[in-house]
Amino acid sequence: MLVLVPLSTGARVHQVMVGVFGLFRPNRIEIETEDGTVTSIRTAEVENRRVLAEGQRLLVERGGKQLKVSFLEATGDLLQVFDAGQVSIEEASFTLSVPGQIRRSFFGRVEVAVGRDHLLPRIVVAEEVAVAQILRSEMAECFEPETLKAQAVLVRSYLRSSSGRHAAEGYDFCDTTHCQFLADNNNNEDEVDRFRQATLDSQGLLLTFLGKPFQPMYTASCGGRTLADFSSTGRPHSGYRYRAVACDFCPKHPLFAWECIVQTENLLRILKGIHRDSPVRILARLARPGDEPVLANLRETVRLQVGRSLGWNLIRSNRYIVESARGFTRIKGHGSGHNLGLCQAGAIEMGRQGKSMTDILGFYFPGCQIGRR
Ligand SMILES: [Zn+2]
Ligand SMILES: [Zn+2]
Repeated sequence: MLVLVPLSTGARVHQVMVGVFGLFRPNRIEIETEDGTVTSIRTAEVENRRVLAEGQRLLVERGGKQLKVSFLEATGDLLQVFDAGQVSIEEASFTLSVPGQIRRSFFGRVEVAVGRDHLLPRIVVAEEVAVAQILRSEMAECFEPETLKAQAVLVRSYLRSSSGRHAAEGYDFCDTTHCQFLADNNNNEDEVDRFRQATLDSQGLLLTFLGKPFQPMYTASCGGRTLADFSSTGRPHSGYRYRAVACDFCPKHPLFAWECIVQTENLLRILKGIHRDSPVRILARLARPGDEPVLANLRETVRLQVGRSLGWNLIRSNRYIVESARGFTRIKGHGSGHNLGLCQAGAIEMGRQGKSMTDILGFYFPGCQIGRR
């Protein structure tokens, strides 16, 4: 049984709704639980409750605007069928699958509704459980308790400040990289692992700026310096204006310094029309050093365009410079991704050197506070 993060009595339990399997646009979903679990099958007027026993399967299919919900024995024998508008299963460890396509285990409450042209399965889970699960997938390589606590605070702040980004679809987050991926439920008996421990030790803590939680960014390695906020609107990215932080904790990371070579002709072709400048002028501007917002913005636009067209393994971050010569362009850079906020490789090294969660967050997010809401 999963060890639940205890929540103090009276505290408001924040919940997170994650839409899953959206990419598969499923018309059939199977659900299995480990123990007998109460299933509620609702139509507009009636609610039926039935226990899904261990070994049985629940098959949910779309039939027009309705659901067809079948209870099956492990042998496949049909026990009972319901028509319903929505089906939900009380909080448990369970396995969800789109037959023949994907099968995953989760912990939480499952709800399945009918969408316009496919099923809409979602998992509802306590925020602290989601924090531990996301931490497990974000920081699999990290063994430093203080670093894990710092990352747990960031994940919790992210969940709290960006819930509802899929409000139109009926959930808070999706299960792709667009949001953050819920790791598979880990079913080790009575195990309090380091991810759950870090979640428990930082329970309810959020990163705030001027008293408000915001969506804090983090990056695998900053390459020696994080970027200052460069949003093109002049408004900060997410309620906090990032400052450039010199970080000498991450020089061993593989993306501390990187370079790649691209055929200039290819580059010019894909840069057509992405900016008011011509591709040749874009390359000339990217040959100049400097991290001022306008240039940092252009670097990000080009990184995203090159990533989509030629692959994400070329321009690895928003801190780079280009050198063109004889048909080829050499791109040299530091760090990974957007390069804003916490440097994960640096935070791991700080933890190794005995720095605390507060030291780590204070270092990468100057001016912020750690608080509870
Ligand atoms: Zn999403
Ligand atoms: Zn760093």
